[in-house]
Amino acid sequence: MSGRVTGTGEVFRAAVREWLSAAVAGLAEGALDDVTVRREWDRKLYDAGLAGLTWPVEFGGRGLSVLEEYVFHEEAARAGAPEGYGRIGRILAGPLLIKHGSPEQRQRYLQPILSGDEVWCQGFSEPGAGSDLANVGTRAERAGELYRISGQKIWTSFADHANRCLLLARTSARAPRHRNLGMFLLDMRQPGVDVRPITRITGDTTFSEVHFDGAVVHERDLVGGETGGWRMAMAVLSDERGPIEAITRYTAMSRAAAVLRECCASGSCDPELDEVCARVETVRWHSMRSLGNALAGIEDRAAGSVSKLMWSHTWQALTAYGLGLGCPAHELMWQRQYLESRAATIFSGSTQIQRNVIAERVLGLPR
Ligand SMILES: Cc1cc2nc3c(=O)[nH]c(=O)nc-3n(C[C@H](O)[C@H](O)[C@H](O)COP(=O)(O)OP(=O)(O)OC[C@H]3O[C@@H](n4cnc5c(N)ncnc54)[C@H](O)[C@@H]3O)c2cc1C
Repeated sequence: MSGRVTGTGEVFRAAVREWLSAAVAGLAEGALDDVTVRREWDRKLYDAGLAGLTWPVEFGGRGLSVLEEYVFHEEAARAGAPEGYGRIGRILAGPLLIKHGSPEQRQRYLQPILSGDEVWCQGFSEPGAGSDLANVGTRAERAGELYRISGQKIWTSFADHANRCLLLARTSARAPRHRNLGMFLLDMRQPGVDVRPITRITGDTTFSEVHFDGAVVHERDLVGGETGGWRMAMAVLSDERGPIEAITRYTAMSRAAAVLRECCASGSCDPELDEVCARVETVRWHSMRSLGNALAGIEDRAAGSVSKLMWSHTWQALTAYGLGLGCPAHELMWQRQYLESRAATIFSGSTQIQRNVIAERVLGLPR
């Protein structure tokens, strides 16, 4: 396993497959959730030229299309590769900075995101602002060149290991509710930032409460201006429900579906197996449609909502069925996946919110 993976299309697929088979060999199955293993994986991808596949070359990416991104995820799922740890940086913060960041912000932040040296978290949700995100109460008070941050975020994934936070906070700009919000690039390793991990139903602590009291952000680390935070947040959420996320979820589910078939090899399964697997395939076709739109340059936010609804409910059906099989060889895996999947209809916008979006934007129903 050495050198950079090159090529496009099927050449790329063959090269990725070869690289993955060498890279994954030696990783113990149980180590795939380990933070150190996942961070090392980010670095390996970077060294192999497999980080930032769709990022422009000028920003350190490969400048490839979402098709190669899809191929990579398909092969990674097939090989049983770990999920990288720097996903908020790669999927959300990086693309935001590429589209809306200043030259200095791009220069400072993009490379450490790709190399995995800096982990990002997403500081949007608060106890009183989840679905109703515009209700954010964390304040960013201007004091000269600095903003002083006070308030609280919750459910912040990766916060306990994060170097930086994409922070949505209310500025002192005199403007209506959606206009006095700013998007800040906050240093998590400073006094005044208190991270309190929350234990999840799975037993891990991958998300946290984050309290801010006296933390500061320099004005050069504001993206989109003092009144542009809402627009930035919508851009982030659109990427969070975009084709790359749909593809990642589908490929992970297809791997789980393969395990399901293994569990059923003894012939003890009922027709529900086919139904569950057919639902996974439906997610695949929907992901393909999103992929086609992305390749044609069509942005369709409602498609992201449909996709989110489909994969989250399918994942829950898949894991419930897998758990119910009582397969001794994979019992622990199904237990974990079942518990993990419970959160899928909440994060990145709950099921009810996605249905509202579809009702309003696709069906044209009144609010
Ligand atoms: C595993 C996990 C990881 C997360 N990671 C992050 C992260 O990294 N960063 C971050 O900022 N946030 C994160 N979140 C938070 C997530 O975005 C919120 O939980 C989600 O937006 C819902 O907000 P809420 O929890 O405040 O619930 P609420 O908004 O209070 O909703 C409660 C219930 O009411 C329903 N509801 C609310 N409004 C409406 C409406 N208008 N119409 C119909 N039904 C409605 C919701 O669907 C839900 O069922 C994460 C959550 C989970 C579970």
